[in-house]
Amino acid sequence: MSKIEVAVLGGGTMGNGIAQVFAQHGHDVVLRDLSADILDRARANITKSLGKLAEKGKLTAEERDASLGRIRFDTDLAACARAGLVVEAVVENLEIKLGIFRDLDGLTPPDTILASNTSSISITKLAAATKRPDKVIGMHFMNPVPLMTLVEVIRGQATSDATTQAVFELSKALGKTPVEVNDYPGFVSNRVLMPMINEAIYCVYEGVATPESIDQVMKLGMNHPMGPLTLADFIGLDVCLAILNVLHDGLGDPKYRPCPLLKRMVDAGWLGRKSGRGFYTY
Ligand code: NAD
Repeated sequence: MSKIEVAVLGGGTMGNGIAQVFAQHGHDVVLRDLSADILDRARANITKSLGKLAEKGKLTAEERDASLGRIRFDTDLAACARAGLVVEAVVENLEIKLGIFRDLDGLTPPDTILASNTSSISITKLAAATKRPDKVIGMHFMNPVPLMTLVEVIRGQATSDATTQAVFELSKALGKTPVEVNDYPGFVSNRVLMPMINEAIYCVYEGVATPESIDQVMKLGMNHPMGPLTLADFIGLDVCLAILNVLHDGLGDPKYRPCPLLKRMVDAGWLGRKSGRGFYTY
């Protein structure tokens, strides 16, 4: 597949990174979010991120400007109508994502691949909202997208070999390493990561240690580059809670029960880095 136009839905943490990486690799990109204000912020974040890469010598000034020039910012879903690939990266909410997949199915050409960057929602369910379940797939980028090489590629019940292969090729052309997994709650990445983060939050909740101490134990003792609570703040505590709820509901095992402290922090609007406060203040 050559340089197809890519539509990215959601100009938040992940959508910005995904749009940037496709644009850096020569794709025309349309980035869609709900308001001009959000899109202004998205543009500023992408500009800053490309600027940092240029400062580090990873991009020339021309490549930086050309990458930004390939991204169109739009509030209208109809702007996605020409895309050969759509990557949905809106909030982790099943109903909202189902609505978007239904709309995309009516709007885009029948051979357009509809991918979701969901952390945990069933690709099979999203696919069933469309008339092209063979062309629906999970394309799970890691945060921060410009730096992290993994793309967890999730096959739903009906995802075809051709779709999987196309997404593998697209991911490799972005300099990423795709890894194929099947569609079960949390896939592999969050099935393994989130119970660890949840357990670290239980340690704070039960007074086992401070967030700083817990993070230090895991960094120095387990050689993790970042402690689990720093990582939770980075991912977003609302996102962590949503994923744990999907694991808990989808697998029905009480071991995935979200810690009450996590719920309370999300209720308080302490969402981690993006809201300025989580287990740490920013
Ligand atoms: P975010 O809250 O930073 O951004 C979500 C964006 O979606 C917001 O700007 C919001 O305005 C927008 N949005 C909501 N409804 C929309 C709609 N109908 N159309 C277009 N835009 C809409 O969230 P995020 O952290 O970027 O996460 C996005 C997705 O990526 C989620 O599914 C999440 O699970 C997944 N994900 C997140 C991470 C992470 O570390 N944050 C990592 C991998 C995957």
